[in-house]
Formats: sequence, structure tokens, C-alpha cells
Amino acid sequence: MPDSTAPYPSSALPDAAEMRAGAVLSIDLGAIQANWRLLQARLGSAACAAVLKADAYGLGAAQVAPALAAAGCENFFVAHLHEGIALRAHVPAGARIHVLHGCFAGTEAECAAHDLIPVLNSPGQLAAWAALGVARGRRLPALIQIDTGMARFGFTEADLKAAIADGRALAAIDPRGVMSHLACADEPGHPANAAQRARFDALRALLPPLPASLSASSGIFLGPDFHYQMARPGAALYGVNPSPGEMNPMRPVVRLDARVIQLRDVPAGTPVGYGHTARTAGPARLATIAVGYADGYPRAGSNTGAAWFAGVPLPVLGRVSMDSIILDASALPEGALHEGALVTLIGPQRDIDAVGADCGTIGYEILTSLGRRYHRRYIAAEA
Ligand SMILES: *Cc1c(COP(=O)(O)O)cnc(C)c1O
Repeated sequence: MPDSTAPYPSSALPDAAEMRAGAVLSIDLGAIQANWRLLQARLGSAACAAVLKADAYGLGAAQVAPALAAAGCENFFVAHLHEGIALRAHVPAGARIHVLHGCFAGTEAECAAHDLIPVLNSPGQLAAWAALGVARGRRLPALIQIDTGMARFGFTEADLKAAIADGRALAAIDPRGVMSHLACADEPGHPANAAQRARFDALRALLPPLPASLSASSGIFLGPDFHYQMARPGAALYGVNPSPGEMNPMRPVVRLDARVIQLRDVPAGTPVGYGHTARTAGPARLATIAVGYADGYPRAGSNTGAAWFAGVPLPVLGRVSMDSIILDASALPEGALHEGALVTLIGPQRDIDAVGADCGTIGYEILTSLGRRYHRRYIAAEA
């Protein structure tokens, strides 16, 4: 575990930009690499891709992608075409970038121009991609997604059978693989996992043999039956626990340290924050810190959870405001905390999943909401 009290590795002094910022978001690229290697080792001969949609879950695709490529990752996934176009500049030539949403009508040529591989989710997407290939006289690469029981993306059984019966569009593309996505992979005992796997096997058997991909982060931990030829983890790379309820096997990646703007001593019964939703139980020392819901810290985190300082939890008191949060710092010895000090909102004592639980959501949503106002500090990759 990293040192629980120091806001920075002791070698690094805060620079001017860090001094100005209300909070510092530290992103450990070496930990992301270690997490990718751990998942790749678990996958054995199956390839470990990396999902970098939503700007690498809020952590910065421009920094995360080169680190993953240096660790050996060759397959990347994004959600949107524009994310794929932006990612192209940050991965080595030859890296495969897949676009989960496929192409909106009229954007196929742009997708091909940037050497992106669309995931074809519907007969319409297949037809348009095939038509571009015919016009170019070249079969263009794509993945085919099948819906195996989530009702979100992919060919239905009827769609698939119709495409196979017709044959023309499928013959006009270069299918690089077939994929689907699990709805309940974070619940290992859920019967939907085996049901989706069986359906995946039944439906892909209708197609010629193709490399297959079913699992994201949690699916990797359902066992080798779920690995196929490629897995597509996102959240686990960034430190989210892929096996909720069990020890998190992943290394923590993010840390959020917020600056104390102001300290005040108040008597018992003092109403705190908007709406006076909290009152001090006794005489208290309050610390107002420079993170709020405009920074992506959920308002649902009002009156719950805590920031940490020197190993001591400082409970959130009252409502989370747009730009600030009030903490009860009474447990700290006199003089321990000062204005301008940093307290830890996300860190060793309170990981991303714990913040999600405190705020009635999941670590994924906390990560992808991380604010643009934070000063970002990347801890160098190992390779
Ligand atoms: C987001 C996504 C992933 C990655 O999921 P994690 O749970 O973050 O690992 C994989 N595949 C698809 C289709 C996705 O939409």
C-alpha cells in the first residue's frame, strides 16, 4: 500500500500549477501497466485489449494509451468515432483501435480514413460498412457484435440469420472477430453469465470460425471459459474492483487530494452548509475544502463518507456545494491541519469503489466524472 499520509511521493515538490489548483488528481500510469499485465497473465493465451472510452474513464487517453502500448497492449476500444480519431495519435502504428458504437450513417469513410475498426451492431451498420468496401474494391475490417442477453447492442438472432441468408453484406466485409457483452459479470453466481455464454456459442456457430470476445473486467474473473480469444477490460485497469465483495486484486491508480480553503471553530448546534442539513453535535473544528459537485464529486455524497488526513477520517458534514465541501476536522489534534493543506478524498483509506458506495453509485461513475478543474499529476510509467 502507498504511504497513507503523504500527498505526494516525497521526491516531488508541488509546482506552481499544483499550488494554484483546488485539488490534485494523481494518476499512476505504472499501476495501470501493472494492472494490464495482471489481467494479461490471468488471460494466458487470450489477448488483453484495453478500453479507453470516455478519455480512458476520465484519466486521460493521451497519457494512458502510450503507457498501455509500452506494456504490450495492441488492441484498444473506444465508444465514439471521435474518440478513436483522437486516440490514433497516441498509439503506435499497427495498434488496432475498435469503435464500440460503430459508425453513424455518413461517417464510414472517416472511420476507414483513420484506420479504425468499427463494431457493427446492426444490419444497417453492416450494410453501410459493406457498401463502402464495395465502393473501394476492398473488404474493410470490422467486428460483429451479437446481443446475447442485454438488449443494448448487437445483432439479434433474427438479424444474424437474415444477414447470413442474404450473405452479400457479410461477404463484402473483413470480419476480424465476433463479440458480445455480459450484463451481470460482476455477480459470479448470476445465471445470466452461463446463459449468455451458451447463447454466444450458439449464435457465433452460425458464422464461419472467428476470434471471439465476450468479457470485460469482471468477466475475466469468471474463469477461462469466458476468456475466448480476447477480453476487453476497462475499469479494472484503472483500479476499480472487478470482483465486488472480494479483495480487490487491482492496484490503486487514482488519488485525489483537496486543498483546505478555510478552518473555523464553531459551537455545538451550529447549522452547516446549504439547507442546514447538518448541525454540529458538539464544539467542532470545520475545514472547508476546494472540491465540489462541479468537480465531479457527487452531491449525493452530502453528509456521508470522509476525507482523510494523517490517517484520521474527517467526515463530510452538510451538503456538497458546487465548489466546496465542509469537513468535520474535530478529531485532529490542535494545529495539525492548516489552511492550504491537502486532505485525501480518494486514496488508500478510501478507494474509488468506497467513494462510489458512499455516494450511492459505482466506482465507474466516480472515475468518469473526475473534474477537469483538478491539477493532474501523472506518475511516470515504468516502461
Ligand atoms: C465499457 C465496455 C467494456 C469495458 O467494461 P469494464 O467493465 O469497464 O471493463 C467492454 N466492452 C464493452 C462492449 C463496453 O461497453
